[in-house]
Amino acid sequence: MIRYALVCDRAHEFEAWFSNSASYDDQVARDLVECPHCGSTLVRKAVMSPAVATAGRREDDIPPEKRLKQLADQVKAHIRKNFDYVGAEFAREAREMHEGKKPQRLIYGEASFGDSRQLADDGVAVTPLPDMFAPVPPKKAN
Ligand SMILES: [Zn+2]
Repeated sequence: MIRYALVCDRAHEFEAWFSNSASYDDQVARDLVECPHCGSTLVRKAVMSPAVATAGRREDDIPPEKRLKQLADQVKAHIRKNFDYVGAEFAREAREMHEGKKPQRLIYGEASFGDSRQLADDGVAVTPLPDMFAPVPPKKAN
C-alpha cells in the first residue's frame, strides 16, 4: 500500500491509499479518485515541499504565548535599535517635535497616562506599549 497526499482542482487537500503507484495512475485516469470535500475527480498529487512543511510544523509546535514572547522580543529589539531613548522627557520631546521646534526622530521613553492622553488629544503620534513590548531602558539616557 502506498499513501499519497492529493489535491483537487479546488485546492482541497486529502490523502488516499493505493496498492501501488500504477494503481493510483489507473484510478485517476478512470476518474475513480474523488475529492472527499467536493467530489471533484480532477485530482493530482500534492507537491510536497519538505522545507516549508517542516517550518510550518515547527511553528505550530510553538505555544502561542511563546510565539507572542518572540514577537515581543523582536519589537523590543527593533525599538532599542531604531529609537532614541529620552526617558521622562518623552512627553516634552514628542510635543516639541510635533510643534516643529525639534527635528523629527523616533523616540521612546516614559510618560504618564495623563501626558500620553494629552499628546494623543493634541494629535501627536504616540503609541503606548504594553509592558511585554516595552524595552528595558538603556542604562544611560540621551
Ligand atoms: Zn475538492
